Amino acid sequence: MPPSRARHGGTRFARRSTARYLVLTSALALPVFIHSADTALADAPPPALVAQRPISTSVGQVRDARTLGQQVSVQRAADREVRRLRAAHRARFRWVMPIDNPGWSATFGEAGSEWSSGFHTGQDFTAPYGTPVMAAAAGTITFAGWSGAYGNKIEITQAHGNQTWYAHLSAIARTSGAVSAGEVIGYVGCTGNCFGTHLHFEVHPGGGAAVDPVPWLRAHHALPRAAP
Ligand SMILES: [Zn+2]
Repeated sequence: MPPSRARHGGTRFARRSTARYLVLTSALALPVFIHSADTALADAPPPALVAQRPISTSVGQVRDARTLGQQVSVQRAADREVRRLRAAHRARFRWVMPIDNPGWSATFGEAGSEWSSGFHTGQDFTAPYGTPVMAAAAGTITFAGWSGAYGNKIEITQAHGNQTWYAHLSAIARTSGAVSAGEVIGYVGCTGNCFGTHLHFEVHPGGGAAVDPVPWLRAHHALPRAAP
């Protein structure tokens, strides 16, 4: 064998040996590697516990979750209270027509000697004798009885002091106490200074001078669409 071939052959053998060594050592190392991996996995907590750890072990986060829950329940209770107060406010300050489907007669401010004050201080609603008259707004009955030119009259004072007056009634159904908007308080008639069955209705903001009831009722969403 020429030296050159032997040298080449030796080199080939060396290369082959190195490859065999690598294969052999790799095969031997594989179980070690797998074992090491098993050990590493065994030492680590299960993935589920890892995921739960921040919630189940963090006192601060549990406390935060409780605080958030309390905030939500407190907010819901506050929302319920706001809705209750709004409903109570609507019921307390809601306005309705004192008569259903009335006719429209003398308006506020008309001048004439037939009125004791020289001009008409309310709005007249015509309706058949005995038609129920309702409280236009909730309040307390602060007067119920005979009142000269007004005939049988009821005054209701609202929580903020506004007054509604109902005159010429044929009969008074409620003489005292609290009434709600829409509650029947009396019946249409023609008592006192009256020339035809009707309800004379007045509005006194804050208990002061009378104002035109029509724009007042309109502003308080009580006027029917057919109103003039
Ligand atoms: Zn009148």
